[in-house]
Amino acid sequence: MGVRVLKYGGSSVETPEQILAVARRVLARRASGDRVVVVVSAMGQTTDELIRLAHRVSRTPSRRELDMLLTTGERVSMTLLSMALQSLGCPAISFTGSQGGIVTDSRQGDARIQSVRAFRIREELERGRVVIVAGFQGVSPEKEVTTLGRGGSDTTAVALAIHLGAQRCEIYTDVPGVFSADPRVVPGTRLLPEIDYEPMITLSHLGGRVLFRRAVILARKYGLPVEVLGSRGDRPGTRIPRRAGSNASAATPEFCGAGTFPEEEPMESDHILGVALESPVRWVRVTVPAGAPNGQTRPLTEEHTSAPPSLPSGGTPLFLFFARTLLPGGDTLVQFAAAEDADLDGWLDPTRWGLGTRVEVEPRAAVISLVGEGVLACGEMLRRAESILATEDIPTWGLHTGTLSLSILLAETHAEAATRLLHRELVEKA
Ligand code: ASP
Ligand code: MG
Repeated sequence: MGVRVLKYGGSSVETPEQILAVARRVLARRASGDRVVVVVSAMGQTTDELIRLAHRVSRTPSRRELDMLLTTGERVSMTLLSMALQSLGCPAISFTGSQGGIVTDSRQGDARIQSVRAFRIREELERGRVVIVAGFQGVSPEKEVTTLGRGGSDTTAVALAIHLGAQRCEIYTDVPGVFSADPRVVPGTRLLPEIDYEPMITLSHLGGRVLFRRAVILARKYGLPVEVLGSRGDRPGTRIPRRAGSNASAATPEFCGAGTFPEEEPMESDHILGVALESPVRWVRVTVPAGAPNGQTRPLTEEHTSAPPSLPSGGTPLFLFFARTLLPGGDTLVQFAAAEDADLDGWLDPTRWGLGTRVEVEPRAAVISLVGEGVLACGEMLRRAESILATEDIPTWGLHTGTLSLSILLAETHAEAATRLLHRELVEKA
């Protein structure tokens, strides 16, 4: 008998009716004889509402109290799902992250999972109960309640699936899988039936909102396959399969045997899998005068770059360096782009960079990223992307290349049209 780990996001448990619908689907999964663990996020926009509530009593709520507050969101959804299951005659029990054995470090608001000690979950599974676990939370060695950063329920689910030896982690969400672009922006977008860990991590980082990046990094580390499915259970969804070459200790047999690669696919691909859009972002230009004391050398601490718990959106906010240029007079120009919700305090303070530093911020910028092996032919892809944008007179402000990505900085006003154009030319026509 196997263990299944299912995760339902906030939009799938927004109302009591939806919670009952999830309970019915969980029941159906259990009928197949598997033991089932369900990880839930807070109902709908609850986490955002709790953050706003905190800010009504304090401008700078302490991270400890904020974590205590935010974890109540998942307590509500976990108990309701458990009650719904019980009302359908299914034995069920809910656990907080702490009860479920999610042990984290002490970083309030952005904690990392250190280990999973899920003996209570195992015991209850043995008893034949469905176990509901609150996502996004854990407990530190000091017995403080912690949260894993916005969107962290995905990470809880992946960690539990690894620990419990599940075949895969099933993430149920309000879209039926991972798409080649945001369907709300691009009409011709397509569902990706399969995507590898690396491009998925890149997509999540550069604006894709379906999966939390840290969850995919964790899955890759242990070679756990992940499936992203519509919460109505509409298949096929998107599979992130285990691959030989990932950090997985054991490669799946299908990739060990020679000759089992799909024949029709070339071994190396020059495809762009998807186009991610992050908008608006802030384009920051810092001009540091030549010889400025302390210039750039003063390290920025973690607290300045990590995501604050007050983020309105999910996931780690985008932060990309676009250039560091030595200007003719000896000044240094540092340029970067940061998501609207990224905490930039330390970066915008001129005194941190050096005397006489000028910091300029353009708040209405956007970053479009092409993701896929195709960008490895970088010069070629860059030329193509720029000439495609030039056909519609869309100027670019900056470029950033990553291993599997090419990011273009441009004005927010052009962002959606440019995304559609690049998707049409580089994904649909490819
Ligand atoms: N409820 C939390 C959030 O909104 C965690 C999650 O959804 O994964 O960030
Ligand atoms: Mg949520």
